[in-house]
Amino acid sequence: MYKVITFYKFITLDAEKTKGIFHDKCKELGILGRILIGNEGINAGVSGKIDDIEKFKKWVNSQPEFKDMTYRDLNTEKNAYHKLVVRTRKEIVAIGKDVDMDKKAPYISVDELNKLYENDDEFIIIDTRNDYEAEVGRFRNAKIMPIKTFKEFPKEISGMKDELKGKKIITYCTGGIRCEKATAYMKNIGIDNVMQLKGGIIEYMNKYPNKYWEGGLFVFDDRLVTTTESPLTECKHCGKKCGKYINCHNMDCDNLFICCDDCRKKMNSCCCEECKSSPRQRKKKYIPIGRVENYYQKLGIACVNMDEPLKKGMQIKIKGKTTDIDAIAENLRDDAGNAIDEGIGVITFPVKDKVRKNDQLMISP
Ligand SMILES: [Zn+2]
Ligand SMILES: [Zn+2]
Repeated sequence: MYKVITFYKFITLDAEKTKGIFHDKCKELGILGRILIGNEGINAGVSGKIDDIEKFKKWVNSQPEFKDMTYRDLNTEKNAYHKLVVRTRKEIVAIGKDVDMDKKAPYISVDELNKLYENDDEFIIIDTRNDYEAEVGRFRNAKIMPIKTFKEFPKEISGMKDELKGKKIITYCTGGIRCEKATAYMKNIGIDNVMQLKGGIIEYMNKYPNKYWEGGLFVFDDRLVTTTESPLTECKHCGKKCGKYINCHNMDCDNLFICCDDCRKKMNSCCCEECKSSPRQRKKKYIPIGRVENYYQKLGIACVNMDEPLKKGMQIKIKGKTTDIDAIAENLRDDAGNAIDEGIGVITFPVKDKVRKNDQLMISP
């Protein structure tokens, strides 16, 4: 089992130095993800095996400037990120305006928000995320901002000033960081009576999974949207209820759109026929899920060690210095020689070409 966590803190930092320390620790523990560090603080989403993530958290909290760091956790079946990026930025969440962060709004807890809904209280709830995020999931009755990036938030919220006057306002975002800046900006321009949801959607969903949150949660890792049993949106191609986003594989299009698994295969991950026949197709992304332990030349059998389940019928790629094979996983056997449909750890199966010890076995998610 894996875990993906997000965390942030606004604090004056030496960005370059902090970047080096975090990069080295992630490498050491095999942690993947995206960490932004600025002189104004740190903003991170990382994933890894549960034990490694717990070690990482302990290490973060052992740093004097991060001893009070809190985390938003989600358990996942697979590693949610496929690489590690640690970067320095002027803003750790970019609103594109100078904002007096001392003015950020007070917090409202997930319990208090839930109570407001239960009691049918009057309040305006504003989603500070981008419109495509809110499209796949949002709080009941939430106001969606018509924005494609957070930098458009100041202009849009300024236009709502009259409408918000004297109302009780609550803002929310994924893990809370955008609301820190959004509410500080709102108060800077004289929109008061605003509170921000502490811990964001993630904390609410963990505590109240089937209450006032509707649909899936858009996330900025490889999953794009967490799974949901009742999606709010439909597949662009077939109209079936579906909450999954993909980026069009025509590199000149790159459109983000809702697409079901069947249509994704049929359309080669493209948004339309025109894109499907375009010559500039994005290369498939592969992630390693196991490695070759041995190859029995006479039998043409590979013996692999899987970190994640290998299933019959899976499209796989085996890649190494001199190996590059595309295949379908079939005739799988466990280490006792029993035929299996699915397995983890040591597995054998026939391959059409030679493979070599330590070649990686990869899939395209
Ligand atoms: Zn479809
Ligand atoms: Zn397209």
